Amino acid sequence: MALPVGSTLVPVIFVSNVTHLTNFFGDGKLWPVYMSIGNILSRIRQKPTSHAWIPVVLLPVAPKGVHKKAGWSAAKQERESLEITHVLLKFILGPISDAAEDSITARYGDRVVRKCYIRVAAWLGDHMENCTIHAIYNTRCGICECPTAELGNHGHSNRRRDHVIYKQWVQEEDTEQLKAAGVKLLWNALWTLRDISPANLIWPDLLYNMFLGIVEYLMDWIEGFLTVHNRLNAFDDT
Ligand SMILES: [Zn+2]
Repeated sequence: MALPVGSTLVPVIFVSNVTHLTNFFGDGKLWPVYMSIGNILSRIRQKPTSHAWIPVVLLPVAPKGVHKKAGWSAAKQERESLEITHVLLKFILGPISDAAEDSITARYGDRVVRKCYIRVAAWLGDHMENCTIHAIYNTRCGICECPTAELGNHGHSNRRRDHVIYKQWVQEEDTEQLKAAGVKLLWNALWTLRDISPANLIWPDLLYNMFLGIVEYLMDWIEGFLTVHNRLNAFDDT
């Protein structure tokens, strides 16, 4: 989509992370979602004192052990929990969805009034969150349709996820095609967003996916290297 000359794109960034609170009282967890915009310089956005991140919602986390109650099963709970999450997401995304105005006028900090096009540009979360938000199986990739067995090792040869087709399959209740693509039979809240393909919202979480991943890989490599040369104890003793 090309923006009219003189208008401003406001790319919205969402961040979410399930936070473990306690091991008591049924493993308490919180699932906060924060929002910011890409027009703010990253060095300003990253400062806690700039308050550039706004808490938007605490998404529901299903309680444990419900399946032990009569008439409930783990599968039923998972299904209902996913549906509730997507109803909430649809509500939250409402003001920037295809049901809202295409653009708004806003007065900026420099007192200039600009025509703004608000579009969701990214949703940063870990793999499990992406699976819930994109309504795909936990064993599948949110960006492409690589088979489960190749997850973690796949290249770029697999077909990118096309949610336009998924939407059609959900309307037709084509469970066979959906299952083959690793998609759940559910009306996805991300389908209400304008001008984006949900697969493009997924970006790596630099801290967890990259930095911690590199450290873990490096430690495995160093430990293996020292073990092969029988130097691990000597290394630990120093
Ligand atoms: Zn992939």
